[in-house]
Amino acid sequence: MSFPVVRYGKLTYPPLSRQMMELGKTIVETIRIAAVGTPFVPQDEVDRRLAICEGCDEWDADTMRCTRCGCWTKKKAHLAARPCERWITP
Ligand code: SF4
Repeated sequence: MSFPVVRYGKLTYPPLSRQMMELGKTIVETIRIAAVGTPFVPQDEVDRRLAICEGCDEWDADTMRCTRCGCWTKKKAHLAARPCERWITP
């Protein structure tokens, strides 16, 4: 069973099922990382990531979310788990 895409304004987000799957994977990986160290990245890395998001064509400036995965970029940028590929190779 698939769910329709989610629309906020003119932008389209992935289906809720996919957003929930990404959230679940991020939570599980964050717990796994926290078991051996800090699950957070330094503030300068957060700032670098958010600057990339703000220049990204997938970023929704109204909601401050990523339309590719549905994440709230200001939250996810702090996590070591499941970094966006554009944060690694912009
Ligand atoms: S998380 Fe990645 S794809 Fe999403 S807005 Fe940021 S840089 Fe773009």
